[in-house]
Parts: sequence; C-alpha cells; structure tokens
Amino acid sequence: MSETNDHERRPVIAGNWKMNPRDLESAGDLAEGIASKLGYDEIVDKDVIVIPPTPFISDVSQILELSNIQVGAQAMSPENGGAHTGEVSGKMLKSVGATHVLAGHSERRTGGETDVMVNAQVRTALDQSLRPILCVGEELNVREAGDAVHTVCAQVAAGLKGVTAEQMTEVIVAYEPVWAIGTGMTASPEDAGSMTESIRDQISLLYGEDVAQATRILYGGSVKPSNIGELMKQKDVDGALVGGASLKAESFEGLVKGF
Ligand code: PEP
Repeated sequence: MSETNDHERRPVIAGNWKMNPRDLESAGDLAEGIASKLGYDEIVDKDVIVIPPTPFISDVSQILELSNIQVGAQAMSPENGGAHTGEVSGKMLKSVGATHVLAGHSERRTGGETDVMVNAQVRTALDQSLRPILCVGEELNVREAGDAVHTVCAQVAAGLKGVTAEQMTEVIVAYEPVWAIGTGMTASPEDAGSMTESIRDQISLLYGEDVAQATRILYGGSVKPSNIGELMKQKDVDGALVGGASLKAESFEGLVKGF
C-alpha cells in the first residue's frame, strides 16, 4: 500500500445530524437540499450516508429514495423487541429505510453506554442486516497520558467481540477522538493517520491482514470541507464521520466533493 491514500477501499462520508434539525419540516428541507446539491446519479465512487434523528428516518429515506445517498440511524437497542419502553430495534430502523447504524458514539458512551452494550448493538445490527459504524476514541486526558492507542484498540476489540470475519465486510469503524468532536479541534492528519493505522493493525490481529485491509476506517472530529482533503490523504483514513459540517447542504456537498 502506498504512503498516501489512493482509495483502494470505497470511501465513506457519513453525516451525523445528532439531535438536529428541530422538526420534520426542517429535516425534509435539509434532505432535499442535499439531494439537489449531490444530484441523483453523481455519486458513484463513494458511499454517502446521512444519519438523522430516528423520527425523521422514514421521511428522509423517502426523499432520498432515488438518490445514491443512504440513511443511517444514530442508535438502536440490542434487543429485538418486547418490553423495552422508549427503545427502537434494528428491525424497526430497517423497516423505515435505515441501512446503517452508529454504535458507541462518544456522546452515548458518555451517557453510560459500555463496551459490552456497544458490542451487543454491533452484533444485533449485523443480525438484522444493518451495517454498524463502530465508533471509538479516547478522551483528552487519556491521550495526554500516552494511553490513546491502547484505549482505542481495546474499544475496537471489545466492540467486535463475537463478530465473524465474514461479518466484518459489513462493519465500518470510526475513530473519533472525544476531544475533537464538536470542538473545532481537528486531530492533525498525522495523528488521525497514525491512530487509524493502529486500528487496522488491531483488526489484523483479530481477523488477519486481508480483513484488515478491506475494512473501512473513518476519522471523525471537527471535519470540514477545508480539512477533509488532508485527512483523506492518510493511507488508513477511508472517509469521515461528520457532525456540525453535515448540517448544511452546501458544506455536506463540500465534504463529499472535497477529496
Ligand atoms: C460526530 O458527531 O460524530 C462528530 C464528529 O461531530 P463534529 O464533526 O461536529 O465534530
């Protein structure tokens, strides 16, 4: 593999809308704006995914139905159904148009999700034919203590427990340093490159080099149209998971077309 990324793996740009926009009408406007900016047949060389709040998935999926843009969910229950008030199953998400689901976003880990819960979501998503985007990343104090690689690789191993090599074709991993999410403090391309390389090494340890080389690994944390090009040059960065800059059709277009 070359030192810079010649995109042997199909790149992924995923926009995590978090708890935005404020209502269904605005979500529809954003989806329509993205569809009109990116066209309906323009994106052929990358996977583009928007990840709206759960109540908007159905409408956003319908708006994007004729486009190449896929729709994901931000979270799901590890349970398949039953007495779990307030929870949403993978099957429900799939039935309203979701193809992907985030697992272990740091905002949810901070809210109490453990590696065990994240792993259960990853495995249930795969059972329901949803593609999990497993999010991992270290806190600033962990990086400062020199423990970032160890911590992130442990999250990868824990998140993938029980996932088979065959299932790994459906899994995307997103490295999102917690200190870079929503702060404007993007990791340097070199730091993003070196951690994604360590993640690939960890996947190789778990599944062998062929699976590791085929797995898409994203960087997330204050990615913008102005910095995506440099990040995407890193040989192990296969795309981006983006929050803030995915909330305007113009900047989402800039991300998708920015490398
Ligand atoms: C995210 O929500 O996963 C994220 C990376 O957010 P932002 O791009 O705003 O840092």
